[in-house]
Amino acid sequence: MKNNIFSKIINNEIKVKIIYKDKYVTAFNDINPKSPIHIIIIPNIYIKNLNYIIKDNIIILGRMLFIASKLAKKYKINKSGYRVVINCNKNAGQKINYLHLHILGGCYLGDIIN
Ligand code: AMP
Repeated sequence: MKNNIFSKIINNEIKVKIIYKDKYVTAFNDINPKSPIHIIIIPNIYIKNLNYIIKDNIIILGRMLFIASKLAKKYKINKSGYRVVINCNKNAGQKINYLHLHILGGCYLGDIIN
């Protein structure tokens, strides 16, 4: 966990431009953006992925989504549209073992469900 890149961001061992932080979550731009707007939101406490969520974490999950909607508005992608993604484990392509939410927007993202 100590070598985890998002843990290092939370612990200030890796410097990134924090675009939002509160008691529960931290947000920053993705280093390798897949769309014009690509923001990552992580909890301030370590959670490996959605499989490790416990009832006490519900407020954090709610906060992640709430802040996603606030940042979408701040970055003016709320009207054009955006996608929120949480990858969990190998088949979803989760590469960093620290729960994180992607906000993607600023262009047409294509259909992934239908
Ligand atoms: P995932 O595939 O869901 O695990 O996504 C991990 C994301 O973290 C990828 O989109 C990476 O580009 C992003 N990422 C990796 N290292 C950093 C970093 N130092 N700062 C910001 N984003 C990062």
